[in-house]
Amino acid sequence: MNWDAEVDIAVVGAGGCGLVAALAASDQGAEVVILEKTEHVLGNTASSAGMIQAAGTRFQRELGIDDSPEQMAKDIFHKNGHESDPELTLAVCRASGPMVEWMVDKLGIELSLFTEFKWPGHSHHRMHAPKSRSGLELINQLRREVAKREDIYLMLKSPVTRLLTGGDGQIIGVETSTPDGIQRIGAKKVILASNGFGGNKEMVQQYIPEMAEVLYFGYEANTGDAIKWGLELGAQVENMTCFQGHASVASSHGILVTWGGVMSGGFLVNQLGKRFGDESEGYSEYALEVMKQPGRIANYIMDEEIHQNLLSIEDYKNLAQLHGLKIADTPEGLAQKLGLPEAGLAATIEQFNQAVQDGQDSFGRTWFPKKLKPPFYGVKVEPALFHTQGGLKINVNAQVLNTKGEPIPNLYAGGGAAVGVSGRKPKGYMSGNGLLAALGFGFIAGRHAAENL
Ligand SMILES: Cc1cc2nc3c(=O)[nH]c(=O)nc-3n(C[C@H](O)[C@H](O)[C@H](O)COP(=O)(O)OP(=O)(O)OC[C@H]3O[C@@H](n4cnc5c(N)ncnc54)[C@H](O)[C@@H]3O)c2cc1C
Repeated sequence: MNWDAEVDIAVVGAGGCGLVAALAASDQGAEVVILEKTEHVLGNTASSAGMIQAAGTRFQRELGIDDSPEQMAKDIFHKNGHESDPELTLAVCRASGPMVEWMVDKLGIELSLFTEFKWPGHSHHRMHAPKSRSGLELINQLRREVAKREDIYLMLKSPVTRLLTGGDGQIIGVETSTPDGIQRIGAKKVILASNGFGGNKEMVQQYIPEMAEVLYFGYEANTGDAIKWGLELGAQVENMTCFQGHASVASSHGILVTWGGVMSGGFLVNQLGKRFGDESEGYSEYALEVMKQPGRIANYIMDEEIHQNLLSIEDYKNLAQLHGLKIADTPEGLAQKLGLPEAGLAATIEQFNQAVQDGQDSFGRTWFPKKLKPPFYGVKVEPALFHTQGGLKINVNAQVLNTKGEPIPNLYAGGGAAVGVSGRKPKGYMSGNGLLAALGFGFIAGRHAAENL
């Protein structure tokens, strides 16, 4: 084959998975090209809250938190009903701690342990996040580090259009459509980091029909390309029905309202001013509950103390600064501003405060940090699809497997391109599983690919 360029490793996609994979490979002395479809380095990673779950880190130990990868895997299995691959889940949990410490120590990325509230399903504080608690800061810091490395080339506006195979079926490179024309890049290893299929309506309709008509809140360029190439090559895919949904995107401003509001003591009501489930189970599955309510809409109810607790999160702070929150001294006043029945909301707040006292409610919720006190805060929210969690089946080295369970030579995947650790259902998604699979498998893939050139 006549190559336009040859490198050790070609990485497809410049989101969190791709940048981490490239940096991990470069650390081992590999020459890497990152090919990005769009003109930006953003991806879903930039839209995220930048919450990276990792266990057994020194940041946890410094705060006296006794966590371990095994405990983290146990939490993940509990959330997904043991539907994720046990070996794979444990492998990425074990990689998470060293990876976060490598990001801080080697890449100079500023991360700190998030302790403002506990995320659903986690037995310990284990989210590590940039200061602003925003994925934009995370991806910008990763990009800054990539720019410093002479052995990493970043090509924007260069969608990969196909994988190139040798006579014996092994991957030997990629074809990309650049502004200067089609280029064939020879690579000893290829890492697929182009996320899942949330931006591909037809694939969402095929695998997750219940979310086909819902707001897609992820990166538009994530159209399932890697999964399609993998299927053509005889790769296995797994858990294609799984996704990360979210129950609370502010309808007025299109800004995520963090579930920290629930975990700090808030709740959701429908247009009748009534609660409709146990919110503390998780935001992904609760998207489906909101979809069952009148108008497929809900109202997030909080108070001043909760509001103050959320202001460290960039998205929430932006929403507050844009006056996206309704505030009132009485339940009736808040109901008026949200267009809800006054008596209905007042009764619900009273019942909720009673449940706080009792320690449980009729929906089975037992997570009640506090009673709601005036002034009250509220915002209308709608459900959304954030990203898909099913994808190419990989082994503990992030190598893509064929239908016989054997690695396809030279092919790796991570992040949304690969199967995650959330099992088959949306309720299997534990907070942090997205970046865990993206950065964690990127880290594993980059190192393994470079060590096996
Ligand atoms: C609002 C929001 C908040 C979130 N918050 C969190 C959080 O706090 N913690 C957490 O763990 N998870 C979170 N997630 C999930 C998390 O963002 C994703 O799981 C993760 O960022 C996926 O990373 P990735 O590298 O696989 O994909 P991305 O970051 O989406 O990157 C994929 C890249 O591949 C490119 N690409 C696609 N096709 C091609 C092609 N053919 N050729 C070349 N390039 C291509 C895309 O343009 C894109 O740049 C959140 C998601 C959303 C939407």
